Formats: sequence, C-alpha cells, structure tokens
Amino acid sequence: MQLTDLGTIKSLFARHGFSFTKSLGQNFLINPSVCPKIAELGGCDGKVCALEIGTGIGVLTKELALRTKKTVAVEIDKGLEPILNETLAEFSNIEIVFGDIMDIDLSRLFEERFKGEDVVVCANLPYYITSPVIMKLLEERIPVRSITVMVQREAADRICAAVGTRECGAVTVAVNYYSRPKKLFNVSRGSFSPSPNVDSAVIRLDVSQQVNYEVGDERLFFRIVKAAFSQRRKQMANPLSAELGISKQDLIKVLEDTGIKASARAEEVGMEQFAQLCRKLSKN
Ligand code: SAM
Repeated sequence: MQLTDLGTIKSLFARHGFSFTKSLGQNFLINPSVCPKIAELGGCDGKVCALEIGTGIGVLTKELALRTKKTVAVEIDKGLEPILNETLAEFSNIEIVFGDIMDIDLSRLFEERFKGEDVVVCANLPYYITSPVIMKLLEERIPVRSITVMVQREAADRICAAVGTRECGAVTVAVNYYSRPKKLFNVSRGSFSPSPNVDSAVIRLDVSQQVNYEVGDERLFFRIVKAAFSQRRKQMANPLSAELGISKQDLIKVLEDTGIKASARAEEVGMEQFAQLCRKLSKN
C-alpha cells in the first residue's frame, strides 16, 4: 500500500471514519522521498531499534520497521488504531503504544521494550510540542544515540544555530549541552496533507554520552540560560541579577571575571562562557 498516495489516504479515512485533528498537529507526509531519507540519515542500519513519536497512518513507521530490528511508536490518537492495524499488518517488528509522549515513563518503556538494544529516535514531530519533546528526551537522559526529527524550519534554524550568534536562543544552549545538533534537509509545506502554513526541516541531534560542558550546578545553569535569554535583545545583567538575587554590581564583576562584557546580551555569549559563568556563580 502506498501510504503517501492521496487517493489511498482518502479511502483509508473513509473506510475507518477518520478525520484529521488539527490541534494534534496532524499533518501527514505525502512526499514519498522524505520518510526513507529520515530513516536512513537517522541511523537505521538494520542493527538498531527505533522509537517514533506520532505514527499518523504509519508512513514513517513502515520505513523504520524495514530498517530496524524493532520499532516502537507512541501515538496519542486511538482513532488511528484501526488504520494502523491495516497499514502495518505485514510487520511483526512494530509495537504501537497509545498515549501522550509527554506523560509516558520513557525509562520504563526503554527497559521493557528495548532491553538494552541501541536505539535511535526518528519522528515527524507534532509542531505544538517540538521543544518540550526534544527537551524531555534530553533531560531525562534517555539512552539514545541520536534524535532525528522533522520540525518547523524556524525551530530547526534556532536549534542548529551557533551559540553566541543572533539566531540562537535558550533552546540552542540547552540542546548543545546534551548533544551536537545538525540540520539535514529542508521539506516544503507541499509535502504534507493537509499542508501547514510553514515549511519544515529535518534535524539530527547526536546525543553525547556525557554532557558536553562542565557547569557545576546543572539546575543553576538552566536558570541562568533561561533568565539571560528572557530579554534576548537587551543586556543580560539585569534579568540575571533579578533571577539570582545578586546586586547588579556583584554580577557584573562575575561576568567580567568570566570574560563577558557588562553590556553583553545573551546571544553574544558562547557555550563555554555560560558554563564558566555558572561554575563561578555556583561558588558564590
Ligand atoms: N508520522 C506521521 C507522518 O509523518 O505522516 C504523522 C506525523 S504528524 C506531524 C504528528 C503525529 O503525532 C500525529 O499522528 C498526531 O496524532 C501525533 N501526536 C500529537 N501529539 C502527540 C503526543 N502528545 N504524543 C504522541 N503523539 C502525538
């Protein structure tokens, strides 16, 4: 069955009485070249297992199953179950878990379903929860080699920007703390049905086994980053001194000891400087 064919999709929906739920980010891929590319560039080489988030009608799930030992997919919409029973019937190495990815205990899911195998994440993410899903996978230190996901192009550019440039944000710093992000390829809005209002891109995060930067106090590090970027085009000394309860004068001294100008904006600060700033502030 050709799952990117509009006629096939329409007849599946009609037979099973399914209609799209916009609020769940249900934009399904209809460009046949995209899913094989996500699976291949996502590291599905026959030796690993895959975790997918959001099956839709199974168009990517199928490509993952063809290239992995086992694919586990989490899907929130139980209304897709009868469709998936039909579209994925020929595969014995797919397990679908119906639930909200944000509520699922991923450590348990990994223990029970992957049992120590090497795992990659591949998904066409629902855009309303792009950053929360990526941060959940990284912060919970789920043992995955890489995370290859389709996201809105703007989000891809932000996540993959260099830290210390105008394009970066708090999410760029957070992602770089846990992984090495890379933009793989762009995908136009016409590749989906229904077509969204924005273009997309596929990115891959190669997850580091150990964190990339020594920050001292991890919770403090994320408080600093969040506060620094809360007014991204303004000097970061003001929001930082308010967040940390330190006088602006004392804070500027620590900034300057770290080689950061008193007038610096968050987007001018590099990863190592953020890490060093946190180490110094942890000692205060
Ligand atoms: N993989 C399919 C494709 O590429 O055509 C579908 C991708 S569609 C952009 C996102 C999918 O994620 C939908 O099937 C939607 O129902 C599902 N989804 C939305 N929110 C979810 C959540 N919180 N947890 C799990 N799945 C979710």
